[in-house]
Amino acid sequence: MQTTENRTEVKAIDCSHFIDGEYVPSINGKTFENINPATEEVLGTVAEGTKEDVDRAVAVARRALRAEWGNMPLRQRSALIRKVGDLILERKEELAVLESLDTGKPIWLSRSVDVERAAYNFHFFADFMTTVGTEAYQQDDIAMHYAVRHPVGVVGLINPWNLPLLLMTWKLAPALAAGNTVVMKPSEVTPMTATVLAQICKDAGIPDGVVNMVHGFGETGAAITSHDDVDAIAFTGETITGSAIMKAAAPTLKKLSFELGGKNPNIIFADADLDDVIETTLKSSFINQGEVCLCGSRIYVERSIYDEFIEKFQDKAKDLRVGDPFHEDTKVGALVSEEHYNKVLSYLDIAKEEGGHFVIGGKAAEGFEKGFFVEPTIITGLNSDSRCVREEIFGPVVTVVPFDTEEEVLHQVNDTHYGLSASLWTTNIKRATRLSAQIEAGMVWVNTWFLRDLRTPFGGMKSSGIGREGGAHSFDFYSELTNVTVKL
Ligand code: NAD
Repeated sequence: MQTTENRTEVKAIDCSHFIDGEYVPSINGKTFENINPATEEVLGTVAEGTKEDVDRAVAVARRALRAEWGNMPLRQRSALIRKVGDLILERKEELAVLESLDTGKPIWLSRSVDVERAAYNFHFFADFMTTVGTEAYQQDDIAMHYAVRHPVGVVGLINPWNLPLLLMTWKLAPALAAGNTVVMKPSEVTPMTATVLAQICKDAGIPDGVVNMVHGFGETGAAITSHDDVDAIAFTGETITGSAIMKAAAPTLKKLSFELGGKNPNIIFADADLDDVIETTLKSSFINQGEVCLCGSRIYVERSIYDEFIEKFQDKAKDLRVGDPFHEDTKVGALVSEEHYNKVLSYLDIAKEEGGHFVIGGKAAEGFEKGFFVEPTIITGLNSDSRCVREEIFGPVVTVVPFDTEEEVLHQVNDTHYGLSASLWTTNIKRATRLSAQIEAGMVWVNTWFLRDLRTPFGGMKSSGIGREGGAHSFDFYSELTNVTVKL
């Protein structure tokens, strides 16, 4: 592999829980190994949390909610949240290196997307929280009604491995802004940046006990989701896990926010600007090794430009450099784990069995003795019933299917139990507005992809999620309202 750059001073860390402002081991002392997916080397150990560790963290979070944090003036809390964003930027390089070591994603991506956005999540909500109001109604001369906002309480934040710091901060910042205390559980596969984030929160001045973290596998997550004294769960991960969490949370009727899986369409009409399409489709297909919930893995192309699209798309995609996450020219790093790598490869076998044609890729990347590298893969010739078109692969793998009419493509696009996002490429504004309103997805991008404004609603419909995050939507989830009626 290429020699690595810019990471000599930053070392991988062992990951302990963070409870009541301190790093602590598991009560039973158990740990597991954290593996670098690009080299298969052991990065360090991770504390393996049990129900007892979760009990401890929840009790501490409950106590902190009733103490200083619950009564802190808005401006002071906002300043602390802003400071967390500042400290993330101060430790940008360290966090970026840890994120790339853990996930296998290119270092430039960790810097420019994951860490930048993590800081902005805090800066954004530090500002936004000072503008959030409630409702008030005057009922003639009879009564005055107004709503008062409270934190929900102790919130469990459970996250996946693909954008570890970005997604944890996307939940943590608004949860804190709304006055909650939290127990976070990062993915067992990518525990390092959350471990540093906990200390950053303390360094920013957030009181001990407000931000707690317990590491571990699904069982640790389940101890949070079934806990009597946890009031809400914000979860991002697989649809099937969301379903298990809903069941576990049912007896205690927890408030739930779910950001789940997707199989997002990328619909390209002949009147679109093809150069723009290709440029963006390369990203929406292969950025972060295709391990982004919003990736457009089902590509539909109007038949009159299908051949030209395939030609130009494969021409650029075959030049994407696969390899060492720490090489600045790498475009596609390692998949996050051996388990996930095997899952993605198994879908390539399925594509073959289903009669798919690999325009490029279709196998593990060559030239690597170690690490979980897969070639960017474009598959054609599959029909809409095939598993590779219907199921979330979550790797650098896309299918391309031609279409003839708007009605036909709309039917195919909506013929899925997922409903996270869609991209639509056309210069016909009437068609864009007509189709956008009919696509069953929480987010539709017209002539772009991944363009975000944190005030807008983010989330999926159907099996891709419950609720929305972003701006006021996050605030609504992380708060409860009491309506007060004063008789006049
Ligand atoms: P996952 O569901 O396997 O795990 C996510 C988290 O849940 C991990 O921390 C895991 O330990 C925990 N967990 C597992 N079982 C649990 C249980 N029974 N109870 C409580 N917690 C449990 O997901 P993953 O493989 O880490 O992530 C990939 C998935 O995440 C993909 O489906 C992807 O689409 C989805 N995702 C969605 C969004 C979105 O915004 N919609 C964003 C990123 C990723």
